[in-house]
Amino acid sequence: MADNYTKFVNGGLGKKLSKQLGLPRPAILRRYAPDAPLTVGPVLVVSDDASAGDADALAKALVAWDVDVRRSGDDSADIRWGGVVLVGTAAESPEAVSEAVLALGGTLRKLAGNGRVVVVSRAPEAGDSPTLAATRAGFEGFTRSVGKELRGGATANGVQLTGGAAVDSASALGTLRFFLSAKSAYVDGQVLPVGPSDAQADVDWARPLAGKVAVVTGSARGIGAAIAGTLARDGAKVLVVDVPAAGESLAAVANKIKGTALQLDVTAPDAGTKILEATKHLGGIDILVHNAGILRDKLLANMKPAQWDAVIAVNLASQLRINEQLLAAGVEGLRIVSLASTSGIAGNKGQTNYAYSKSGVIGHTAATAPLVAALGGTANAVAPGFIETEMTRSIPVGTRVVARHVVPSLQQGGLPIDVAEAIAFLSSPVASGVNGQVLRVCGQSMVGK
Ligand code: NAD
Repeated sequence: MADNYTKFVNGGLGKKLSKQLGLPRPAILRRYAPDAPLTVGPVLVVSDDASAGDADALAKALVAWDVDVRRSGDDSADIRWGGVVLVGTAAESPEAVSEAVLALGGTLRKLAGNGRVVVVSRAPEAGDSPTLAATRAGFEGFTRSVGKELRGGATANGVQLTGGAAVDSASALGTLRFFLSAKSAYVDGQVLPVGPSDAQADVDWARPLAGKVAVVTGSARGIGAAIAGTLARDGAKVLVVDVPAAGESLAAVANKIKGTALQLDVTAPDAGTKILEATKHLGGIDILVHNAGILRDKLLANMKPAQWDAVIAVNLASQLRINEQLLAAGVEGLRIVSLASTSGIAGNKGQTNYAYSKSGVIGHTAATAPLVAALGGTANAVAPGFIETEMTRSIPVGTRVVARHVVPSLQQGGLPIDVAEAIAFLSSPVASGVNGQVLRVCGQSMVGK
């Protein structure tokens, strides 16, 4: 559900009042529903001349998903695009992309509410000429800027192919689908690198995690409970983990999703071993979500050792130890997703301990990625911005209202489900080409780069 302000300004009286007073009017974001179409209207695929073959390949994939795909614009007054995909994968010079980029611009006034812009490009690689590197890198700033210009719940994101990954590889298509869908409602202005992978193209989109076993730490409430529910919805058997003091709500979450509960403090020295033992009965472990986290906010000048140490122990050191124990046990094909935070990217007053821990998560994810890849797995991080949970309800109301509205185009906080959808995507077999990355779920909040 949207927050009360968003609901008010989208209702009859609130809509009128907010217009008269010039107040921000955040849109009600469309979220995933199993029977709803992938996009809210037809999707236009545009490209520069050199990328036309790749654009055709993507259009073909979209047709297979029952999307109404067009390869040229539509001048009719009532057209409302559900999405526009800009393909610049083979562009060779900045001048060569202008026609396609301006064609995209020409459609934006006719983009439907909750519409999607997705830019598919290639990352600059070592050995590129300066011209080619500039052509490729330009799409990043472009995508972030389009995101900031859109309104009405629309978003712009990028699929950035790396290492020669094919445009119609299963991972590239899976990432495109995530960005086009309602599952990425609060992901905006993100450019996600996607490398080559052995992901299979035949995906059961309704239950992509069928047959998988997932472990979610800190899942008695908040974002963790939403992650557990979403992974179960997608077909996984879920082991929910939280401290004994949260045992009752943990059991309730486990019952609701037909999962299994494990009372465990993630800072215990043998937490990884305990998780391995508990998942043995479920058939092993395929997905590990490091979600448990705490805040102990204080200005550094007033920080007590216990406040610093507790945050580092729960948010960071526990993840390192558990990963080491799982890797030492040789777990194959493990998909790790760790909760970072935009505070760990931008820094935040009063959160030196928290920001150290979350920046540390981003650092260890990059270093863990090749280690798990050697065993067929991936390690990625998700960095939420302002998400409406009990954790953020403890923030004073004035700061909370400001935090929602520094989100430039979406103008609202996200919901736990938004973080959960990103994690479910990164945990899914189709995302195996995404490794060592940080995906922000922040509505392109001004906080961070
Ligand atoms: P929350 O406080 O609502 O839930 C955290 C859960 O972790 C609780 O159930 C708690 O009991 C559990 N936990 C704490 N210490 C634990 C331990 N030692 N062992 C096992 N479980 C433990 O928090 P939330 O808002 O749902 O946040 C979840 C994650 O998302 C955290 O890592 C947080 O840092 C991150 N995050 C949240 C936001 C936000 O806006 N809410 C933003 C960025 C990042």
